Formats: sequence, C-alpha cells, structure tokens
Amino acid sequence: MADYDVIVIGAGPGGYVAAIRCAQLGLKTACVEGWLGAGGKPALGGTCLNVGCIPSKALLDSSHHYEHISRHAKDHGISVQGVEMNVGVMQKRKDKVVQSLTLGIAGLFKKNKIDWLQGSGKLLGANEVEVNPTTSDGKKQTVRAGHIIIATGSVPARIPPAPVDQKTIVDSTGALAFDAVPGTLGVIGAGVIGLELGSVWRRLGAQVVVLEALDDFLPAADKTIADEAFKTLIKQGLDIRLGAKVTGTQARDGGVTVSYELKGEKQELTVEKLIVAVGRKPNTEGLNAAGVGLKLDARGFIEVDADCRTSLPNVYAIGDVVRGPMLAHKASEEGVAVAELIAGQHPHVNLDIVPWVIYTWPEIAWVGKSEQQLRAEGREIKTGSFPMMASGRAKAMNETGGVVKMIADARTDELLGVHIFAANASELIAEAVLAMNYGGSSEDIALTIHSHPTLAEAMHEAALAVSGRAIHF
Ligand code: FAD
Ligand code: AMP
Repeated sequence: MADYDVIVIGAGPGGYVAAIRCAQLGLKTACVEGWLGAGGKPALGGTCLNVGCIPSKALLDSSHHYEHISRHAKDHGISVQGVEMNVGVMQKRKDKVVQSLTLGIAGLFKKNKIDWLQGSGKLLGANEVEVNPTTSDGKKQTVRAGHIIIATGSVPARIPPAPVDQKTIVDSTGALAFDAVPGTLGVIGAGVIGLELGSVWRRLGAQVVVLEALDDFLPAADKTIADEAFKTLIKQGLDIRLGAKVTGTQARDGGVTVSYELKGEKQELTVEKLIVAVGRKPNTEGLNAAGVGLKLDARGFIEVDADCRTSLPNVYAIGDVVRGPMLAHKASEEGVAVAELIAGQHPHVNLDIVPWVIYTWPEIAWVGKSEQQLRAEGREIKTGSFPMMASGRAKAMNETGGVVKMIADARTDELLGVHIFAANASELIAEAVLAMNYGGSSEDIALTIHSHPTLAEAMHEAALAVSGRAIHF
C-alpha cells in the first residue's frame, strides 16, 4: 500500500509548485526537503527563495536605490548629502524578504494538505523513498508512492584553481551574505550570476573586476544587445576582462591574489574578496541514482524525455536537475506539467519560449532566438529595432539607455526572437513571450494599442520597425 499518490523530492520552485499542483488535482502528496535556512531552521523554497532569485533581487534593488540616490538624484534636482549604506540593515531586509516567502510556502503546503517530510530523500526504488532528517530532532522514515517527482535542483559549480572557503573566496551564496562592502572584488565568470552580484557590490562602492574565460560577452544573448550591455556595464565601472582564464589563487593577508591568463600572458589580480560564478551543476548527491538505475547524462543531469519521464517507471524529474535552461520559471512550468500528466491530463512545456532576464541596470531580457543563431541556421529574417533614447517615457524617467530588437521570419512575419536592453526589461519581455506563445507575428504587436507614455511603446515601435514603419525613430 502506498502512503502517497505522489512524493516530490525537493521544494524549490520546481518541487513546491509540482506539489501544490498535485494537491490541487486531488493527489495525496508529500514533499521531502532537507534545506536548513537562517539559524539552522528547516526551510522550503530551494535555491531560488533562499540563496538565488529572491535574495539577489532584494540586494539588487537596495543597491539600485543607493546608486540612484547618491549619483542620479541630482539630475532630478534633488540634492542629498551624507548618503550612507548600512549593509547590516540591507542584509536584514533581504533576510526578512526571504523568510516571509519561505514561510509563505509552508503556509501553502498546509492549506493544500501537503505533508512536508523534513530531511534528505534517497531513492530505494521506483516507488520508495528513505527520508533522512537534517535536524537533530527529526526521525528517519521510509515512504512509498505511486509516483515520484525529483526536483533536487542545482548547486554552484566549482573550479580547482579557486577553492571556495566562503570567507575570502565565495560562491553566489557567500556573495549574498557579505557583511561589509569589499574595497576590491574579483568575480570569476561574466554569466548571469557574476554580472548581477558584481553589479550589487559595484553600486555600493566596491572596485569590481570580472574575469571571463570566453572572448565573447554573453554569447547566448543577441549580439546587438550583448555589445550594448557590455559598453554600458564598462561605463558603469565594472571592469570586465574577456579572454581571461583563471589558473590559480593564493590567499594573502585579508585578500587573495588571482592568477589568470589573458591572450597567452600571465597576469595577476589582488582583491579583498573573490566570487566564483562559473555556472551551476545538477544536484543528484544523496539520491542513490546509481543504486536504483536512474540514468544520468554525461554532464550529470537526470536523463528525461520531453515529458520529464526518467529511465525509471513513474519517476519524473524537473527543473535544474534536468536539461534546459536553469531558470526558476522553467522549473515551475515543468512542475505543473508533470503534476497534470500524473493526473491524466495532456500538458506541454515549450522550452523554445522561455524568457531569460539578467537583472543588471538597464536590464537584459530575451525570448526566442538571437540574430546570430537564426543566421547560422540559414533562416531568412527581418529585424526591427527601437532605441530607448527615442522613447518619451524613458526620457521623462532619465532611463534612455538601451534598445528593443525584434526578429521575425522574412516570409511569414512570425516572431522568432525579441531582445531587450532597457529599464524594466524584465517586465517588458512578458508581452513578447505572450505573442510568441500564440505564434504571433511582429504585425500582431504593431497592431496592438500601447498606452502612452510607457516604456512598452518601445516594443510597439520595434514591431513597427520590422516593416520599416516606426513612427518615432
Ligand atoms: P532548487 O531551487 O535548487 O531546489 C532544489 C531543492 O531540492 C533544494 O531546496 C534542495 O535542498 C532540495 N534537495 C536536493 N536534494 C535533495 C534530496 N536528496 N532530498 C530532499 N531535498 C533535496 N532563476 C530565475 O529564473 N531568475 C532569477 O532571477 C534567478 N536568479 C538567481 C540568482 C542566483 C544567485 C542563483 C544561484 C540562481 C538564480 N536563478 C534564477 C536560478 C534558480 O534559482 C534556479 O533555476 C531554480 O531555483 C531551480 O529550481 P529547482 O526547483 O529545480 O531547484
Ligand atoms: P554562467 O554559466 O552563465 O553562470 O556563466 C559562467 C561563466 O564563467 C561562463 O561564461 C564561463 O566561461 C566562465 N568561466 C568558467 N571557468 C572560468 C575560469 N577558469 N576563468 C574565467 N571564467 C570562467
């Protein structure tokens, strides 16, 4: 006799959403989660709520306010003296935001009658999970279910030349918890996390050097956007060194010296703190994958089909631990889809239409393919761009940096990619995602009335520009 219809392992945005959707569909559901948050207290929410999306955005927001008040308020005629950053208060605010959201998930579990089994889950078979508590007062138990959903997420990737001690050399988790602004800061990796965390501490006064092994900046983004963002971030004071491969680190009194190779030449950089932001790797530790024959691919991701079915019957895997973009909303979408599949429905997740956002300022956001990708595929395309400089609202806001670029099929006009570098790009991209989800064309956006004056008018104008009829540029 099974104890549950579904056991979910992991309560990040993949797992907790899957559990809630399962419960909504009338399935008896448990969720195994062993995370210990502040003060060693068990917490739901996974990477995203505890040490990822949410705390990073809290710090990005605080540091944005600080930079705005100390540097840009004067453009509005506001003079401010003696602006000070209290890092302790900023961190406390971030912790409170995190806590209120993680407690919120616990509340949602209660409301939906989901059993939270505190501990680390180990597969004993395709229907059986052993739960090993991560607190001293918990009890070990074995539970059975008709279906298992694995949502164990990811952890920061490590590189041998920069061993993380969470004091001088930190990963993203350590970099979210600095109790003072470092005078000098090194960041290894100019990916999403490196740029966001580098921006936080630069805005608060750190001198930040970002070392990126690749010669290209943000190769996954459209080149027009990446080039523009690179120039802007450099102008803001982020010293991004491309083609800089880190080869070693040496602890020094109160800091670290980083050795790296730049164009074949050996270089050194000494900083107070170093953030290792070289990507994330799937987390299958402790799951007993090999023991139960759960197949992993060459890079350690759990192998799944298009519907997130693993190699074991009735066992599914979702989110960062499987192929596809490592993004919270992708994990959640797969969670919903798998719950509905188990309940006998026919869901579908379209991994081609997943929006990406990098929360620098201006923000970078895109959905679909880049111009360089489409050209490499030999697609015939047309593009339309609109600079934020020409937007009335952007001018009124003093946020004229950036551009919106739309790419459509040359023959059918179907939208193939939308790329934004602009204030609030994270919100603006939603319109493009919706249009592309409906198989929309640039003409669909061009024929849509947008409120005036708004930043979203730049979306309208870029769509008009695809057919050479932008009005304001
Ligand atoms: P996770 O959130 O990693 O959750 C997995 C959970 O499983 C964890 O709670 C873990 O404790 C638990 N677990 C693991 N193994 C076991 C086990 N054996 N038994 C029980 N429990 C287990 N994404 C965005 O979309 N937007 C952003 O702005 C964004 N910002 C980020 C900023 C940072 C600094 C970082 C690090 C990540 C960011 N991400 C962002 C990525 C996002 O956090 C992940 O894509 C997302 O959390 C993946 O969700 P998940 O449910 O697959 O896994
Ligand atoms: P992301 O996967 O988007 O988080 O980005 C991580 C970045 O770190 C990638 O752009 C990698 O090229 C970069 N990276 C990985 N290893 C090194 C290294 N040894 N030195 C510098 N950059 C690195």
